[in-house]
Amino acid sequence: MKCRHCAVELRYAFLDLGFAPPSNAYVSCDGLKKPEKYYPLKVNVCDQCWLVQTEDYTGADELFCPDYAYFSSTSTGWLSHAARYAQMITERLGLDKKSLVIEVASNDGYLLKNFVASGIPCLGIEPTASTAAVAEKLSIPVMQMFFGEALGKQLAQNDQQADLIAGNNVYAHVPDINDFTRGLKAALKPDGTITLEFPHVMRLIEHTQFDTVYHEHFSYLSLYTVSRIFNKAGLRIYDVEELPTHGGSIRVYGCHVDAEFDTSVAVAAMLAEEAKRGLQSLLGYQDFQARADHAKDELLAFLIEQKRAGKTVAAYGAAAKGNTLLNYAGVKPDLMSFVCDAAEAKQGKFMPGSHIPILPPSALLARCPDYLVILPWNISAEVREQNMHLEKRGTKFVTAIPALAIS
Ligand SMILES: [Zn+2]
Repeated sequence: MKCRHCAVELRYAFLDLGFAPPSNAYVSCDGLKKPEKYYPLKVNVCDQCWLVQTEDYTGADELFCPDYAYFSSTSTGWLSHAARYAQMITERLGLDKKSLVIEVASNDGYLLKNFVASGIPCLGIEPTASTAAVAEKLSIPVMQMFFGEALGKQLAQNDQQADLIAGNNVYAHVPDINDFTRGLKAALKPDGTITLEFPHVMRLIEHTQFDTVYHEHFSYLSLYTVSRIFNKAGLRIYDVEELPTHGGSIRVYGCHVDAEFDTSVAVAAMLAEEAKRGLQSLLGYQDFQARADHAKDELLAFLIEQKRAGKTVAAYGAAAKGNTLLNYAGVKPDLMSFVCDAAEAKQGKFMPGSHIPILPPSALLARCPDYLVILPWNISAEVREQNMHLEKRGTKFVTAIPALAIS
């Protein structure tokens, strides 16, 4: 396989998680009687541009289950993050009624509704019909399409170039990252700004977040690699910020290569930090598999110990992260009796691969497990707060990443 950015042959493995079903392919009761499809889950690193990327395999296009949708607005922490960003960027760029804000992967309007409230024109790009419909009810115009160079050029021709293009947690999910970036270039006004937020591969490595690896997540990005991808498309990065979201993300600010934005000192500082950690050599990538295996083994040993001691273990959050972890560890309902999730669409179904039943959060009250494993560790504080009543009844909270922690 060749690198998705620079097209050199990929020779180095970063992480091999064996085979797993698509992380969003929740199984219905009827589905339990049918065979389930597993796909390779392997990540390589390019030794030229250092793009960390999932390996291609046949049938990748079957992955995107059309009836599944993630609604961004279900997380209150994420909603306030979006509101703060909208206020900050409106002031920083001086956006007003004459501006245009485009969000790529606008989901259910969790972000753009803030611009609508300020009277700033906006346009969402969102291929998922169910989420787009929710956004449209909030008076957000939505184009129901995938974003790329073709759509970027179409927007430019229709006089819909943007003062701001925002993309939150979409850049890493794009299969053709070069085409997507050329689309950003085409849809951006000459003095416009692009902001992209994505998990920082530097933090992924530092905190052993191997469970954020799943099929739909094509790229694991450093500032260095994104700078290269931007430059090749005629764009450049003029600022960068670190964010606590998703276990450590960065927000990059991009513009046309010849635009008049001064490059902030933060850009050079972060590039230097990445280089210091070995991210522009094989050194930074080579012990990740061993650390991932260690975290997986610790969780498995804990679950077996509790089963032998007659204790009950449940989990919270039927999200992609949890599926990667549980499938890599080979956990089944004998070790973890159920998973709770607030999303009604998942309740009554089963986790892909592990077939652990998904129940509403009210099941926790009824069953009061000895241990509750919080699978989406990035919102563990939020989950703990919502489940204080369990703590009072003796339930202990567990997280598995970066290392097993019980409290
Ligand atoms: Zn490359």
